[in-house]
Amino acid sequence: MKYFMFFLIYNFAVITYIIGYSILRKGIRENRIDRIYFTAAMLSAGWSLCMGLVLIQTDQDKAALMRALGMFHIFGLLICNTHMVVYWSNVRGRLKQWTVGFIWLGVILFPFMIQRRNMIFEMTTYGMSYRFVFGVWSVAYTAYCVIAAVNMACVAIYMLRRSIRRRDRVVAYSLLLCICVVCFGCALDTIMQMAGFAAFPGCTIGQFFGCVVLYRTYLFHNRTRMTLENMSEFVYYSVDEPVFLFDEAERLCIVNNGATLFLDMSAEECRKMQLSDIFELDHNAFRFRGNKNRVEARCWKRNNICSISIDKIYDDYKDIIGYIVIVHDVTERVRMLERVGREKQRADKANEAKSVFLANMSHEIRTPINAVMGMNEMILRESDDAAVLEYAGNIQDASKTLLVLINDILDFSKIESGMLEVVEGVYSLKGMLKALRMECHMRAEDKGLALIFEVPEDTPDRLLGDEVRVRQIILNILTNAVKYTMKGSVTLKVSYQRVKEDVVELTFAVKDTGIGIKEENIGRLFDKFDRVNEEEVHTIEGSGLGLSIVDRLVKLMHGSVEVESVFGEGSTFTVRLPQKAVGMETVGSLEEESVRHEGHRKNTPMFTAPDAKILAVDDNKVNLTVIRGLLRKTKVQVTFAQSGSECLECVAKERYDVILLDHMMPGMDGIETLAGMKAMPDNRSREAAVIVLTANAMAGVREMYLEKGFDDYLAKPIEGTMLEQLLMRYLPAESVCVTDVGKSED
Ligand code: ADP
Repeated sequence: MKYFMFFLIYNFAVITYIIGYSILRKGIRENRIDRIYFTAAMLSAGWSLCMGLVLIQTDQDKAALMRALGMFHIFGLLICNTHMVVYWSNVRGRLKQWTVGFIWLGVILFPFMIQRRNMIFEMTTYGMSYRFVFGVWSVAYTAYCVIAAVNMACVAIYMLRRSIRRRDRVVAYSLLLCICVVCFGCALDTIMQMAGFAAFPGCTIGQFFGCVVLYRTYLFHNRTRMTLENMSEFVYYSVDEPVFLFDEAERLCIVNNGATLFLDMSAEECRKMQLSDIFELDHNAFRFRGNKNRVEARCWKRNNICSISIDKIYDDYKDIIGYIVIVHDVTERVRMLERVGREKQRADKANEAKSVFLANMSHEIRTPINAVMGMNEMILRESDDAAVLEYAGNIQDASKTLLVLINDILDFSKIESGMLEVVEGVYSLKGMLKALRMECHMRAEDKGLALIFEVPEDTPDRLLGDEVRVRQIILNILTNAVKYTMKGSVTLKVSYQRVKEDVVELTFAVKDTGIGIKEENIGRLFDKFDRVNEEEVHTIEGSGLGLSIVDRLVKLMHGSVEVESVFGEGSTFTVRLPQKAVGMETVGSLEEESVRHEGHRKNTPMFTAPDAKILAVDDNKVNLTVIRGLLRKTKVQVTFAQSGSECLECVAKERYDVILLDHMMPGMDGIETLAGMKAMPDNRSREAAVIVLTANAMAGVREMYLEKGFDDYLAKPIEGTMLEQLLMRYLPAESVCVTDVGKSED
């Protein structure tokens, strides 16, 4: 009998060790309850083992030793179980403090309970047994056990009453059951002893069953915990996307609800399929490098386009177990992309049409202005009648304003459509500033304003940047300053700072003593078509585009623009632009140069070249007349042609030094004519520089023309000075005789 009892209790120990081990394998560090339950299982197993060993002892002292060890586990288990019950019940406050605090009294009790004199051992039919000697310690121990059980029962009842969730109530019932089972065992063991019966190891048996009940509770509780294992199942069945699991042999094993709905088949029917039965894919879809493959394929059954992601699943040894295939229906997206593509094509076409329209408009408007300005310039050059000169001066001002307006609108539409690019080239800052001063000088003088340029002489002169755009920015701000200043001065202050060895940050500060801008309007200054201080400026011409263009150009060049202004006193516009400095040349003094400009001639050309031969090609007779007029004083020999084919005939007959070739001509246009000339074997003007004349002033066209093979570009309306400057550059040096004016321009 005693061996039977020992064997039984020994097996309890083994089972609880196995339970403990199973928790250990899952990784007990994950959760507090895992740690507590693992400890409880170990203590329960220790209890069973020690008490089993007591049973088979014949020597009382050895039995006492086993018993003492067993008691250690008993107290430990009581503490653990109390903690577990408190943890699950989520009890708070006094009840928790009391229950947990009380159970730890066992630590004090334990040394007294194992004293040999407090126990009597005797041999019974089921082996070595013992009972407590009645006294303080036996009563204390019994009271401790009873109070601990009552405490735990109270906590479980608290949980039962308080919990709203059904799963908590199930846990509470399990705890109550566990307490009952243990109490029943203890009743057999402890209380029977007090009644004078030999101790039956009921407590040991009871705690084992209690431990098993707790294990079930623990498993149940774990099932409702948010863990990867638990949730993956929920996720798998609840995701709408079809999910297919294929085994190593590429057979479909598991499908989720999404997949059955997607294929409109039962899970059983789905399982008979291969990936290639579902999608337009060959068998190689599973053969890929790496862990993931994403393919797009049409589903046979539904005829929709799917994005299929295939992931390999590996075992612990990194061998493939199977594949997880997740399907996204992208039909809508693909269709939308196709639609967007078509829309984009349409928009691109419309944009192209807009650009063509703008280029044409630019041409159409500039051609008559060209004629007006050209003819007007001839009047200005040739007339001596003061009244006529005044009228012609007015015409010149008005046509210049019109030209600026057209350019602004064209530039703006170009910027808006993102077609404006910064075209870098090496330029002279000094040259640019001189040109700027020339352009603003007359207007400032007319208004009685002092135009002051303050440029440090050591400012680097040769810069790499987009000269045209830098000039446009400063010119816009300078003309505004002149426009909105009635008396006083306009000052352009240039300064620079070296950012890197070859990069300088140029600062152009334009200060005026004009009408100023109200503080509340400063924020709106750079908005397109917005004119601020309406009351003050409505009599002054303007479109509200200038500053908006400045702002965008500055941003395009990674610079900045700032405004400071006091209403009624004046404004300062400060532009900062990073530019690359090329070489060591500095700007030097601008002053003496300007003096010479003041005496800009009316009748003296920059050069004379009686031996030079120029061919001017334009379908518009007025333009040819303008060219002739502008070049009359240079004594250059000018031949005219009114079409591309006429031009080809001319170059076959004569050797020209420079050809001025209009772009937009009926029949053969300028570009075709140039190509024709290049292809001609008998072209006698092969060496001639070909300069395209065009009214197409859209930004970026210059580069386009250079790419097409032209040597240079001259925008209409042609200005006499510009034309002369260009010719001086391209005519053979030996045929050119530079005048004093030309020297100062150089
Ligand atoms: P606009 O063609 O009207 O000059 P801008 O974009 O160049 O267009 O300028 C926008 C507005 O900013 C102008 O209408 C004017 O009210 C104000 N403004 C610009 N520059 C100055 C300045 N130097 N002094 C006072 N007001 C200015």
